[in-house]
Amino acid sequence: MQKPILELTQLGMRYPVATGEFIALKDVNLVVEKGEFISLIGHSGCGKSTVLDLIAGLQMPTDGGVLVSNKEVSGPGPDRAVVFQHHALLPWLTVYENVELALKQVAIHQKKRLSKSELEQQVMHYLALVQMTHASSKKPDEISGGMKQRVGIARALAMQPNVLLMDEPFGALDALTRAHLQDALMAIQAELKNTIIMITHDVDEAVLLSDRIVMMSNGPAATIGEILTVDLPRPRDRVVLANNERYQHVRQQVLQFLYEKHTKVEPLHQPAAKEVA
Ligand code: ADP
Repeated sequence: MQKPILELTQLGMRYPVATGEFIALKDVNLVVEKGEFISLIGHSGCGKSTVLDLIAGLQMPTDGGVLVSNKEVSGPGPDRAVVFQHHALLPWLTVYENVELALKQVAIHQKKRLSKSELEQQVMHYLALVQMTHASSKKPDEISGGMKQRVGIARALAMQPNVLLMDEPFGALDALTRAHLQDALMAIQAELKNTIIMITHDVDEAVLLSDRIVMMSNGPAATIGEILTVDLPRPRDRVVLANNERYQHVRQQVLQFLYEKHTKVEPLHQPAAKEVA
């Protein structure tokens, strides 16, 4: 059997605070196989971004550890590319140059030399995957939000990461653009068989895209509450699935987890300290 691509073992994160320490995450255990699409879902503040940061190596855990391809994560690396909710493209570079830069960085890291034509062919390949070749000479501020996210995805894919990490990648987009990008991501994953860990707040997005949905309990000491397997055949079509019983059942289970088992009521009004006294 193949070794898992990602393993989180007894992962925990404690932050120092004025009163001692705040336990954000506790005993998070997850094994992800190559090519799986995993969604992380849970209420705001439950620790989803912290989990993603720990996998990305942007923060170090205070407990447990993360293995990617059997190697302990000790910092950021090109084997784990991140796509954020708000694009992180370099504004002074064109779309083409933003993807080119990622390819050059990976080549340096892998001690490979790419000829100019190899580089060009690869940049255009990744731009074609996200249907952005037509805008290759544009700067980020000359294209729409959805297009910027497409370029961000192309840049992340260009790094050929072992694990692609996505932090609400479509959260800032309108519903129609989001649907187009979800379809594009499903098509890309079917072709490249990427391993993807994606944070989302959108239940339909989680069910449509995922092989498994990892549902997190509320903090403090948040952890994985339940894991749902989405055994719907691929390719998936949102219109066809809308009336699919299995789809509705999975969707219902996520909603129950979030709004019945682990409900979280956000206070509408935070009283000031003197009002409490
Ligand atoms: P989510 O992504 O699910 O919204 P986060 O991972 O951002 O949640 O945060 C999880 C918890 O950890 C929250 O309660 C947050 O306030 C806390 N937290 C995050 N970073 C720090 C920090 N540097 N110091 C103290 N607490 C933090």
